[in-house]
Amino acid sequence: MDDPRPSPSPVDVVVVGGGIAGLEAALDLADQDYAVLLVERESSIGGKMIALSKTFPTLDCSSCITTPKMSAAFHHPRIRILTSTELERVEARAGSRRVHLRRKPTYVDNGLCIGCRLCEYACPVEFPDPFEEGLGAQRAIAVPFSNALPQKAVLDARHCIACGACVKACPTDAIRFDQQEERFTVEAGAVILATGFGLNALGLKPEYHASQSLNIISPMQLERLLAPHGPYGRVLRPSDGKVPGSVAFVLCAGSRDLSLGVPYCSRICCMYSIKEAMLLSGALPVADLTVYYMDIRAFGKGHEQFYQNAKAMGINFVKGKVARIDPVDHDDLSLRVELEEEGGRVEERRHDLVVLAQGAIPVLEPATALGVPAAPDGFLNQPDTVRITCTDIEGVFAAGAALGPKDIVDSILEAGAAAMEAARFLAARAPASSAAGKSTASPPSVHA
Ligand SMILES: Cc1cc2nc3c(=O)[nH]c(=O)nc-3n(C[C@H](O)[C@H](O)[C@H](O)COP(=O)(O)OP(=O)(O)OC[C@H]3O[C@@H](n4cnc5c(N)ncnc54)[C@H](O)[C@@H]3O)c2cc1C
Ligand code: SF4
Ligand code: SF4
Repeated sequence: MDDPRPSPSPVDVVVVGGGIAGLEAALDLADQDYAVLLVERESSIGGKMIALSKTFPTLDCSSCITTPKMSAAFHHPRIRILTSTELERVEARAGSRRVHLRRKPTYVDNGLCIGCRLCEYACPVEFPDPFEEGLGAQRAIAVPFSNALPQKAVLDARHCIACGACVKACPTDAIRFDQQEERFTVEAGAVILATGFGLNALGLKPEYHASQSLNIISPMQLERLLAPHGPYGRVLRPSDGKVPGSVAFVLCAGSRDLSLGVPYCSRICCMYSIKEAMLLSGALPVADLTVYYMDIRAFGKGHEQFYQNAKAMGINFVKGKVARIDPVDHDDLSLRVELEEEGGRVEERRHDLVVLAQGAIPVLEPATALGVPAAPDGFLNQPDTVRITCTDIEGVFAAGAALGPKDIVDSILEAGAAAMEAARFLAARAPASSAAGKSTASPPSVHA
C-alpha cells in the first residue's frame, strides 16, 4: 500500500463517513463496478457501530457484523479508503462535484507501517483511550484498536513528548515527525454524505453534576464496559472498581428539551438503554436495574416486544422525571425523582452507577459550511419527502444518522437507497459510450 498521494483522477462516487451507512453505500456502488473513494475522518473505519457491544433488538454481536463489512470495503478492488481525512466542503459544478478534503498528519508512513505495534509497546506516554471512551489507557502512538482498519499506527501529537522511543523500536523506519496536513480536491460524479451523528455533552444538564462523579457515565462508556474486549474485561464502576449493585438509566437526559437546544426525540435512546439494561442483567445478575423514563418510544419492528421482555426480566421501569443527581457518600449517587404515577411525589433514590441517555446531535454543524444545507434541527435537509436521500445539491445524496437520529437497520436501508440514487444519477449523465456512468479507470490511487 502506498502512502496516500491523492491522484487528481476523477472518481465515480465519494462516500463521506466510514460508519455502517457509508460502508454499505460504498459496497453497494462498488459491487455495481463504480469507482468509490471512501473518506473517514477518524483513523479507522467502523463508525459508532464498531464500538457497540450488542445491537437491539436481536442482541447480535456488533463487532461480529461490522468487522466483515469493514474488511469487505477495505479489500474491495473498486473502493479506495482514506482515513484521518475530513470533508471540508462540497462544491457542485456543471457535470461534477468538487470534494475538498483535509488529511490530518498521522506521523506514520502507511506504506511502510506493518502494524506490528512495537512503537506502541515502547512509548512511555499513556492517556485515556478515546476508543474505550476514556476508560482504558492508550499510548501516544498506537494502532487505534484491535480490529481497526487500517491496522496502522497513529501518533497523537497532543500527547507525544518526542522522546524518540518509538523511532528506535520501529523495524521499518515508518515514523515521520515532519508529516504535514494536506488539503486536496477530488472530482466526483456523485457524493454520498454518511457523516453520522454526535452525542451532546454528558454535563449538559448542570443539575445532574456529571463533572463531579466518575460514576455518572455515558451510554457509549457502558457499551465499552459491556463489550467482550472492553477496558476492564467486566462491568466495574469507574471510581473505585466496585461491582455495581444498583444501576440507574436516566432517559431523555439530553433530548426533548427546548432549553438544551434539542427539542426533538433522539429516537435511539429508549432502545439502547433498554438493551444495555438487559445486557447488564446478564453481566450482573443480582444487580438492581432501574430505568427512569418520561415515555418509552419503542416504535420499530420487534421493539415493543423487546421492551416487554426487559420488563419480564425484572428490570424496573419508573415513569418519572429525574430533577437532580448529587454525588453522596464518596462514590454513590442520589437521584431526586418526581414519580409521575404517584401524582408527582418526590423521592430520593440511591444508586451506585448512573447512565445518562445523551441526545443525538448533528456532527456537521453548521452543515451549510460544507456546502450542503441543513434542516432547522441541524441535520442535513431532506427537500424531497419521497426520495429522502436527496439533498438540496444535485448529485449529492445522504444516508444514515447524518439525516437525523436513527438505528442501524434504518441507516442501512437509507444507505442502499442513497447508493441507488447515486447510480441512477450517474447513469442518466453518462455518455452513450460508457456503461451507465461507470469510470473504466481504477479508483484514484489513494489508500489509507
Ligand atoms: C450508546 C449507543 C448504542 C446504540 N446501540 C444501537 C443498537 O443496539 N442497535 C441499533 O440499531 N442502533 C444502535 N445505536 C445507533 C447506531 O449507533 C447508529 O444507528 C449508527 O451508528 C448510524 O450509522 P452512521 O453510519 O449513519 O453514523 P456513524 O456511526 O456516526 O458513522 C459516521 C462516520 O462518519 C465520520 N465522519 C463524520 N464527519 C465526517 C467528515 N466531515 N469527514 C469525514 N468523515 C466524517 C465519523 O467519524 C463516523 O465514522 C446506538 C447508538 C448509541 C449512541
Ligand atoms: S516520541 Fe512520542 S509517540 Fe514516540 S515513544 Fe516518545 S512519546 Fe511515544
Ligand atoms: S509505526 Fe513501526 S513499530 Fe509502529 S506499528 Fe508501524 S511498523 Fe510497527
